[in-house]
Amino acid sequence: MREWVAGDPLVIERGEGVRLYDTEGRAYYDGVSSLWLNLHGHRVPRLDAAVRAQLDRLAHSTFLGLTHPPGIRLAEELLAIAPPGLARVFYSDNGATAAEIAVKMAFQYWRHRGELGRTRFVTLENAYHGDTIGAVSVGGVEIFHAIFRPLLFQVYRAPSPYCYRCLHNGESPAGCRQECLTGMEEILARHPGEIAAAIVEPRLQGAGGMIAAPDGFLRGVRELTRRYDVLLIADEVATGFGRTGRMFACEHEDVSPDLMCLAKGITGGYLPLAATLATEEIYEAFLGEHSEMKTFFHGHSYTANPLACAVAIANLEIFREEGVIEGLPPKIELIRERLAAMRHLPFVGDVRQAGFMCGIELVRDKKTKEPFPVEERAGAKVCQAARERGLLIRPLSDVVVFMPPLGSSPAELGEMLEILAAALRCGDGEGN
Ligand SMILES: *Cc1c(COP(=O)(O)O)cnc(C)c1O
Repeated sequence: MREWVAGDPLVIERGEGVRLYDTEGRAYYDGVSSLWLNLHGHRVPRLDAAVRAQLDRLAHSTFLGLTHPPGIRLAEELLAIAPPGLARVFYSDNGATAAEIAVKMAFQYWRHRGELGRTRFVTLENAYHGDTIGAVSVGGVEIFHAIFRPLLFQVYRAPSPYCYRCLHNGESPAGCRQECLTGMEEILARHPGEIAAAIVEPRLQGAGGMIAAPDGFLRGVRELTRRYDVLLIADEVATGFGRTGRMFACEHEDVSPDLMCLAKGITGGYLPLAATLATEEIYEAFLGEHSEMKTFFHGHSYTANPLACAVAIANLEIFREEGVIEGLPPKIELIRERLAAMRHLPFVGDVRQAGFMCGIELVRDKKTKEPFPVEERAGAKVCQAARERGLLIRPLSDVVVFMPPLGSSPAELGEMLEILAAALRCGDGEGN
């Protein structure tokens, strides 16, 4: 805080395409999509028009006991593209609440089924599901979460699929026997009737350090949760809406979760909106007579805000009509090639990518993988160097995150990656 107060804040005044402009008129590439939200760039005519048109009808009316056309239509459209089996939509207004809702819903589902012992959750080390207390409880990022531990409910923590720092296969992923999955299985086997759900970020753990799981991990988790009869919550808040190259990350492994959390890209990065999708089976457990009190008591003032729903519908229209997903593979390949060249730079320990989600882990010693001391601020230095060259990115400790909007052109991606490489060369932890 002291550094922030003492420093000179960057004041962003406007955006255009994949660039942001500060009050001095300087341009910057939006290299983390305004914190993982923006998909098609800023001031997208179709999205702007959708907000304006809705503004002429209704800015907000509560979704508690009422509904509205954009809310109805968006729910139908989300279900049409969601993994099979997801049949119902529960709205809220940000990713943390989408996860919090999934956790509460899973818990209450088992209560209604008469399984009162199911009070625990399985989560992964390095998990991030948002900053409210329930979401933090199922989180596992030490620097964000450790201080709140006395406030949190207890969970079982399975190993993170963090191949670069895996204690089991060392240098050779070929020797992988999926010990991380075994870790989860041990927990599930040891606590029958006690676990309500497992919660995971499919394919890539974001805020925990852009940790890309090996192929098969997600499907393995789905198989385990079925075998041990616990629900699976897929938190697609970051990975959803094309970020990994498919509409949802679950699609890469043909996984259908029982509950799925959506936020961030749902409105193309325009307005706060979130949705928790559930199976019909979960939905039906909440049906009952008034006196049974089976209602899911969870609501927010701005749940399903109509402006946000309208822009989310326009966002899905862009996906359909402009072939967004179909256009991603060559861009993802371009990013992959340029990142591969960065592996050889000094202090680049690991390079991870899931589609448009990339992380570069900086280390002091590439051989031993020894991290930089915290006070070195290696990640922050690289990001500062990038900012001076016109690229806005943000580190997660010493993992430099690169997550450009899907709508970036190959030429724009090329320029961003050139700046990134230059920043890695000079903000290399030596401070020069
Ligand atoms: C960002 C994020 C959240 C929290 O979303 P907010 O809208 O910031 O509350 C939850 N889960 C995942 C996987 C995220 O990346």
